[in-house]
Amino acid sequence: MVICFQCPDGDDSSEEDTKEVYSPLTLEKLARQRLLREEALAISALKDLPNILFPVMFEEAFINGHTKVLTAMIPVWPYPYLSVGMMIKNLNLETLKAMLEGLDILIAQKVRSSRCKLREINWRNEYHDVYGIWDGSHELLPGFMTQKQPVQNSPDCVVKKELKVTTQLEVMEGRLDESDTYLFQWAQQRKDSIHVCYRKLEIQGLTKATVIEIFKFLHADCVQDLLLCRLCLEDLDFLNPYLRQMNNVLNLKLSHITDTLSMGDSEISLLPTFHYLQKLYVNDVSFIYGNLKGFLRCLKKPLESLIITDCNLSQSDLDCLPDCLNIFELKSLNLANINLCDLLLEPLGFFLERVRHTLEYLELHSCGIQDSQLNTLLPALSQCSQLRVVTFNDNDFSLLFLKKLLHHTAQLNQLESEAYPAPLECYDRDVILSHRLENLCPGLLDILRAKRKPKEVTFETTQCSKCGGFYLYDLETQSCHYEI
Ligand SMILES: [Zn+2]
Ligand SMILES: [Zn+2]
Repeated sequence: MVICFQCPDGDDSSEEDTKEVYSPLTLEKLARQRLLREEALAISALKDLPNILFPVMFEEAFINGHTKVLTAMIPVWPYPYLSVGMMIKNLNLETLKAMLEGLDILIAQKVRSSRCKLREINWRNEYHDVYGIWDGSHELLPGFMTQKQPVQNSPDCVVKKELKVTTQLEVMEGRLDESDTYLFQWAQQRKDSIHVCYRKLEIQGLTKATVIEIFKFLHADCVQDLLLCRLCLEDLDFLNPYLRQMNNVLNLKLSHITDTLSMGDSEISLLPTFHYLQKLYVNDVSFIYGNLKGFLRCLKKPLESLIITDCNLSQSDLDCLPDCLNIFELKSLNLANINLCDLLLEPLGFFLERVRHTLEYLELHSCGIQDSQLNTLLPALSQCSQLRVVTFNDNDFSLLFLKKLLHHTAQLNQLESEAYPAPLECYDRDVILSHRLENLCPGLLDILRAKRKPKEVTFETTQCSKCGGFYLYDLETQSCHYEI
């Protein structure tokens, strides 16, 4: 229980920043909007529309729901690729129907327009979004919409059809939303002429009948991003034969998996081998406790990213890390929100030594790490020369040990972002003393500055138990402020 002096009395609504940015409409945009107001005119103008204007016209028609124009644009789309999922808002059943109608015209044509180069539509497929990497702020660039974005080491789809729609499927408690349902049924009826490629599959809560139905049609080999959420071990057992068919999964996220049958002691063979897995994200999964080794056995290729958060780990779990051969090329390790305070961290130190040439992200915030434990990590940490991001905030370090830590991270020249906890000296029993943080931080930053030019550095206190706020000192403003 920690409290601060800032607790607002429930009225923090005025803080919200609701600035809007207006940009003047360009003449071209005005012309486009005017043209689209007359759908018939716009459609007849398509044949004379320069290729370069197709993406902007499409976007305009899409955002404003000019469905007839959308339908008409598909059979004459002059690029091999059309991406609608990533940057255009207004994905809904109507715009989907309009696009599929356009595809139907294309499929029905005996002779295609010589202008049409369309091979693939990307509908709502957010590449590698399983971990929330993509922030959705990309500006629309014509190239972005018409050229396929290369996905790292992504195996190409096994189904070869002239036309393909790449998308994702979310199954929530056995239900699909109306657009997914429509697309699924549409695709089933046209499976000879078009391949709907489900790159991402999300199953939240299990309904067996739906899963059976879906896998009659879905090509398991197409799935690259797999998210399994709110399931119990028995559900995983049921899904296993399906998972075994998914030979190309790159990213696997398991979240909120409960152990209702208390099968925790039995040998975990609940996950099949994933041959191409690059990222494994485990969040709030109880059966990982004491089973990490068996869990990592499902990997065949060296993993790039291992994220285990909000779980309990045992000493034997940490002990196995330095011996797991398939995580030695790790770029990213995240153990945030795992209580490590009662564990010996030597094995983690040995492990860091082994990945010192590859590790770029190390997140150890909110792990309850204490001074004495930190000591065992430091020698290995300063050897991780590729580190770009470290988070150590929300751990219990005294000023003395925090300084030690900074002397080590000061040697890491690639660091772009670093988060540290406010030292224990910034608390008086359970009260946050923000002025102490303000006074200490310049000296702490000097430790880094003596060796290199730091880019993004923060020191933050733990959250106040009453208001949830905390104090943060950052390099940019060089001041301490209250955040909530
Ligand atoms: Zn407070
Ligand atoms: Zn496919």
